Amino acid sequence: MDRPKINCLQPNIMSLYQDKSTCFLVTGTKRALLIDTGHGTYRVDETVRQLTDLPLTVVNTHAHPDHAGGDGQFPEIWVHPLARTQLTHPNLRDIQDGDIFDLGGIRLTALYTPGHTPDGICFAELDRGYAFIGDILEDGHLSIRDLDGYISSIQRLLDLRDRISVLYPSHGTCPIPLDESVENVRSLLIGIREDSLERVPMKLGPPPDSDGEVPPDIDPDQEYLGYRYKDLLVLYDPARSGWD
Ligand SMILES: [Zn+2]
Repeated sequence: MDRPKINCLQPNIMSLYQDKSTCFLVTGTKRALLIDTGHGTYRVDETVRQLTDLPLTVVNTHAHPDHAGGDGQFPEIWVHPLARTQLTHPNLRDIQDGDIFDLGGIRLTALYTPGHTPDGICFAELDRGYAFIGDILEDGHLSIRDLDGYISSIQRLLDLRDRISVLYPSHGTCPIPLDESVENVRSLLIGIREDSLERVPMKLGPPPDSDGEVPPDIDPDQEYLGYRYKDLLVLYDPARSGWD
């Protein structure tokens, strides 16, 4: 079985990276939180147990298979209620917007951030200035299903700029700053909504440059409609919605 690459990002945050998908393990003084479970191609449960013996809570940022693939290795998974239509885990618990996961010294607030999927959730440590953002933002591309939802989710992050400066995305460069580059994303998305940008057909494979990676939930051979803006590849096809 594959093994993940483990990095210590901060004293209380570790990343577990495997096959272009990152899970995060956050440890407080009383509990640990595992954010996503990856593709399910390695024993993420055993990996976590080698890193901490604290009581563990497991959450999904959204129900895509590269984030929830290892859910079955854990007795209980916390998700947004809309994820229930996509997951088969027998013991799902609901996360509501604003719920706080108190790990002891670290408090992560759940922010409902749809757009990439209907069930997207970010987990923000508002006193320590960082947030785990799933697939809502990453360098190189965005994958949009619900444009209005996406714009409000980006706006929601921007509104927290005085509390958050560091973002941990699940794919691509990590971390990324919450700065004017995120404002540019918002402007671009509004340009798409106002139909002031040209839409171009694109295939996503091979990757556009050496750093670009085809997102795991995208078929590289299928042709999609999208937008290219500077180094940002924005996949948005109104015919493509919901979860696909
Ligand atoms: Zn995704």
